[in-house]
Order: sequence, then structure tokens, then C-alpha cells
Amino acid sequence: MIENFFDIKPRLVRLDKEVMEECRPYFERIDSISDYNQMKVLKAFIDNGISARHLVGTTGYGYDDKGRDGLDRLFAQIVGAEDALCRYNFMSGTHTLTVALFGVLRSGDKMFCATGTPYDTLHGVIGIDGSKCGNLMEYGVKYDQCDLLPGSLPDIEKIKEGCRDAKVCYIQRSRGYAKRKALSLDIIKQISDAAKEANPDIIVMVDNCYGEYTQTREPLRYGADLIMGSLIKNPGGGIAPTGGYIAGRKDLVELCGHRLTAPGTGREIGCSLDVMREMYLGVYFAPMITANALKTSIYASCLYEKLGFETEPSYKDDRNDIITSISAQNRENVIAICRGIQAGSPIDSFAAPEPGDMPGYDSQIIMAAGAFTMGSSIELSCDAPLRRPYIAYMQGGTSFAASRAAVLMSAQKVYDINNK
Ligand SMILES: *Cc1c(COP(=O)(O)O)cnc(C)c1O
Repeated sequence: MIENFFDIKPRLVRLDKEVMEECRPYFERIDSISDYNQMKVLKAFIDNGISARHLVGTTGYGYDDKGRDGLDRLFAQIVGAEDALCRYNFMSGTHTLTVALFGVLRSGDKMFCATGTPYDTLHGVIGIDGSKCGNLMEYGVKYDQCDLLPGSLPDIEKIKEGCRDAKVCYIQRSRGYAKRKALSLDIIKQISDAAKEANPDIIVMVDNCYGEYTQTREPLRYGADLIMGSLIKNPGGGIAPTGGYIAGRKDLVELCGHRLTAPGTGREIGCSLDVMREMYLGVYFAPMITANALKTSIYASCLYEKLGFETEPSYKDDRNDIITSISAQNRENVIAICRGIQAGSPIDSFAAPEPGDMPGYDSQIIMAAGAFTMGSSIELSCDAPLRRPYIAYMQGGTSFAASRAAVLMSAQKVYDINNK
């Protein structure tokens, strides 16, 4: 079928059929997770009495904004939280994590990261990159971390030691762009149990970016006190145009509300303009959209494994984020993969991504993205630093059928340059 529309050679068309067959049991598992999550979301809409008046916006201060407050309550129920802030006013995942960290930590407190060096953009927020833009360390917050052990397992002894005098134990669920695995909910539970055994008052915060709806539960049931994420990843369903969420213990969410707006004002203000319909629609679609991204990830792993490339996770592995890393072996393959993904994207399919320099990175980066929302990574995208060991990171895919075609196009490009 795909060959009726795109220039995919017979050998790859055959491989595609084989891959679809092989992936079937893993797709079925994704469908059952997604069905469960969709019921959970529907139930929350019904329980919270969401109605047409929630979908229209307000202006100005936004006092008594029904849509805004309804969305907070709805999201809290979905992720199993006492309370939540689910708002378009968060400008990115990094901004959301920043509000949460500054909301909870005070001068003299210690933040302990149990999962190695956090995601790149957090370095400047904490201050571990030596920058001075008003980061946590400049405000007197102390920071320490321990690495994951081989196999991406937590170092329980070091975690207990580090958490004894810490205010916050910080966990990053997704691999981000590091050479490690995404953490399962059971591992998150092990870390939070160790942290709380060493220090019963500790606050466990989880960077949940890319992890939402990959399982039937979120980390709050596994010992987390607060979870944070971006709405242009899984939980915005590809429709929320921007935003983020903080969810968990009521007292902590309240503190974050004061940091998001102004101390003393808190969560009571913030008009909703005209984005409420898209926010609710995105939250409603998110389980289904995440399932499409997971199927794309499984499909890409299987296809590239059959073409002789190592991938992480493998198509057989359980998934806790939506990222697939492909060991592309050399520069040419990395570029070919990204160009194929771009060529199979709905927006800017005609563009050919070029490696370029990016602030904050020590090598050239190539990025493929043809998304409706700028920077959205629940939509299919692929990026890679052009340095050894030449790993391409692929994520997202709001429509599995379309993303499957794009992944096949990337494989065709790789095949072409290696079989001239
Ligand atoms: C994407 C991501 C972030 C930061 O989100 P931005 O929207 O890029 O600022 C933080 N942590 C993890 C694990 C992420 O995947």
C-alpha cells in the first residue's frame, strides 16, 4: 500500500510487512494501555462536569476562570494527584520544572538528583554549568547527585546517603538524550522508598517529560510527591499549542502556584484567552496520541534492527518514554535518517535538514521536524549530535500510519546510500 504513494523499493516493502507482523503482540499491549488510559480520561471529564462553558476563554486577570480551574482539577484526577496546575502559561518543559524547583526549594535546602546529571536545559537552572542567570545555587540551594549504575539501575546506597540531609530527591524518568534507559515505575518506587527511608520528610519530584500515558499509572502512585511535564509532549495530545503541568501533593502545588504568578497571588489569576478548547481537546486525545507515538517507536526499533542497526529500547522491550535511539554508525547514516523523516513529515517535507552549530552543544546537531506546533516532540521528529557514537534520537508520531511511512522513507534513504 505504502508503495502506491511513496518511492519505497520492493525489498523494504517486504520488510515493512514482516515488521508489522512481528510487532503485532507489542502493538496489542500498547492498545490495551491506551484503552485503559482513555477510560480514565473520559471518567475524569464526566466526574468533573466539564461543559461547553469550560471551553470558552477569559481576558485580563482571569478571576474565577472556570475553564482554567476545571482543567487543573480534571488533570489532577487523570494523573492521580491531590491537585494540579495544567496551564498554557508554562512556556516549556524547562520552565515548568523551574517553577516547580523554585516553588519548593528555599535557601539552604539541598536538591539531590538520584538519576545522574539531569537533562541539558536544567544545568543552567540548577547552576551546575557555572552560569549566573539567577539559578538555584545563586539563591543558596545546595546540589548533589549520584549516577545510575550499569543497566540504568539506581544506586540505592548512594541515594540513601545523599537524601539524608536533602529537601528534594529529584528523578528524571525519561532517558532524555543520554545513554541510559527510561525508568520503569517500579524503579521509581525503589528510589522513592530509599529516599523516604533515609529521610521521611523528603519531597520526591519526578521530571515526567515523555513518560505520560506510556503505562496505565503515573509516578504519583509510586512514591512521587510532585510530577512535572510539557504539554507539547505526550499529555497535550499534539493539540495543546503550548504549556505544561505540575501535579501532586496539594501543599506543594499551592507553593508552585505562588511561584508561577506572584507570591500571595498564586493560582487564582491567569486568564485563559482562547486556548481552552485546544487544551481540553489535547488532554482528551493524549492517551490515543501517545499510543501512536509508542507504536512508531516500536516499529522504528524493529525495522532498524532488521536492517542491522542497534536500537534502544528494542521493539520487544517495555516502554517508559517515547524515544527510540538508533546507533546509526556514521555521519552519513545520521543525516540520511533525519532527511527521510523530514521528507515524510506533513509540514516542510521539501526541506533537507543540514547539520549546524547550536548554542550549548559541543558538536554540530542535525534536526528533522515537520510539525504543526513548533518544537513539538509528540509529533514525529528526529535529532542527533554529529559525533561518535552517532546516535539518532527519534520520537513522537501522532498518526502511526503516517509516521510508519516517514520511518520507511528514512530507511530507504539509509539503504540507498549504503547500496549504491
Ligand atoms: C523535553 C524535556 C525537558 C525540557 O523540556 P523543554 O520543553 O525542551 O524545555 C526536560 N526533561 C526531559 C526528560 C525532557 O524530555
